[in-house]
Amino acid sequence: MHTLTHPRLAKLPLEQAQREMGEARDEIARRLQVPAAHLSFPIGDPSSAGPREFALAREMGFSTAVTTRPGMVMQAHAARMQALPRLSVNGLHQSRRAFSALLSGLPFALMNRFQPA
Ligand SMILES: [Zn+2]
Repeated sequence: MHTLTHPRLAKLPLEQAQREMGEARDEIARRLQVPAAHLSFPIGDPSSAGPREFALAREMGFSTAVTTRPGMVMQAHAARMQALPRLSVNGLHQSRRAFSALLSGLPFALMNRFQPA
């Protein structure tokens, strides 16, 4: 689930951010007849999704939410399931060979010094 209009949620007033997330979730649930329990923050960088959005996703009942902060999912993420890292797949610098390296997680582990993103 990815919001109604793909805004930078952190730039919106709280009520508008909540509406973007809630109405998209409700529409998906209505059309698919299954709960939409997972959120991908639009853009997903720190200027688009931060502590307020992570708390909002948790309060709204999303089981997980992903940012575009590159990293590996680690044990510490269990305490912040609405602020998970993810690998952006966009074709930028992503040849098949480079993509395989990214999927291994090693570049992110090294970049983040084996700490959670
Ligand atoms: Zn998107």
